[in-house]
Amino acid sequence: MKDTKRIALISVHGDPAVEIGKEEAGGQNVYVRQVGEALAKQGWQVDMFTRKSSATQASVVEHHPNCRTIRLVAGPEKFIPRQKIYDNLPEFVKSLLKFQQAEGIEYQLVHTNYWLSAAVGMELKKVQPIKQIHTYHSLGAVKYNSVSTIPLIANTRLGIEKACLETAERIVATSPQEKEHMRSLVSKKGNIEIIPCGTDIERFGSVSRAEARAQLGISEDSLVVLYVGRFDRRKGIETLVRAMSRSTLRGEANLKLIIAGGSRPGKSDGLERDRIEEIVDEVGIRDLTEFPGRVSHQELPNYYAAANLCVVPSHYEPFGLVAIEAMASGTPVVASDVGGLQFTVVSEKTGLLCPPQDDAAFAVAIDRILSQPSWQVELATAARTRVESLFSWHGVAAQLSELYDEVLSEPMESRGPVSA
Ligand code: UDP
Repeated sequence: MKDTKRIALISVHGDPAVEIGKEEAGGQNVYVRQVGEALAKQGWQVDMFTRKSSATQASVVEHHPNCRTIRLVAGPEKFIPRQKIYDNLPEFVKSLLKFQQAEGIEYQLVHTNYWLSAAVGMELKKVQPIKQIHTYHSLGAVKYNSVSTIPLIANTRLGIEKACLETAERIVATSPQEKEHMRSLVSKKGNIEIIPCGTDIERFGSVSRAEARAQLGISEDSLVVLYVGRFDRRKGIETLVRAMSRSTLRGEANLKLIIAGGSRPGKSDGLERDRIEEIVDEVGIRDLTEFPGRVSHQELPNYYAAANLCVVPSHYEPFGLVAIEAMASGTPVVASDVGGLQFTVVSEKTGLLCPPQDDAAFAVAIDRILSQPSWQVELATAARTRVESLFSWHGVAAQLSELYDEVLSEPMESRGPVSA
């Protein structure tokens, strides 16, 4: 028998092969794709399963000889927002079983991502001998605390998240803060390991500020504040816009705000984009604000490197890849003092943390960094060092690989609820 180490990564709604930064595509897609590719380089045979969301999409995309995305048919072959995908999960499980049969594969280990995929993993465990590792990416128990309207699907989600924590062989928390939330808000039972998210430290950090500014046509003396991410209320772009309007540097001709991300008008992030543009006009900072739209990972290193600082003003952030991408690029980060950002950003050392939604505090933090160029350099150097030592994809995949080996070597009987 061939000694192949095989892993199925499941990401029902976050297709690892799509362009990032559009609609709902964000951190999860990046995580699954990067983890998959890095694991393949470390000797794993990686199959990444997602839902086919357009008839024109390829059913299989090869990223590396040992790493492919497989798009399973589950419901109509069109985009379905994540809160409406649940009903299609039985068909997803059926398609996955059929795929295994057709390929003559039986996975022994599945790493599921987000609660929808957790449900798929738990169903698979009922019908085949398979172990489950799960990464939440977002916890319903935290999310529903910070939104005003709770969707219908909330109870189902909370139930699945609790059952998964208690029954999966391992849960991967991406920060100590996320682990703490699982324990205080979800369950005291279950095995949790902390393995952070990562970033491409070769890509981010490959270009100097001068080169990046020349590429983007930004003058050397500009003071550039950058946001990168989806247009979603939870991301707190409004806080950043209001903070910029309060900045004491506002009168300076060289102050610039770049808000990168989002998709074409009329797509699902269009409403938040419109709302943000209205606030930009209302507070009178249109002349210093730019919206370049979605920026690819090829171009993003230029944006991060060109910026004097990057702002991550999320109301809540389970991890927040943008913060470590900026830090890897040698750019200090001003972020909300929440979730994974408390782990990645060390306040006063690699950037500053502010209370979420507090535009006055963000304005002070932005001004403090912009007005002290030599401190900016110190923060930037410490930020890059922190990412190199803790958050490279290679390092993250090595930790996951060790965890997979450990779980695979445990007897099947050891599964089941265990105390913390
Ligand atoms: N992103 C991108 N282009 C954009 C906007 C975002 O490539 O125009 C990427 C960004 O670089 C990061 C991911 O989308 O890798 C966002 O991840 P994060 O964890 O910050 O937020 P999420 O979208 O998961 O809430």
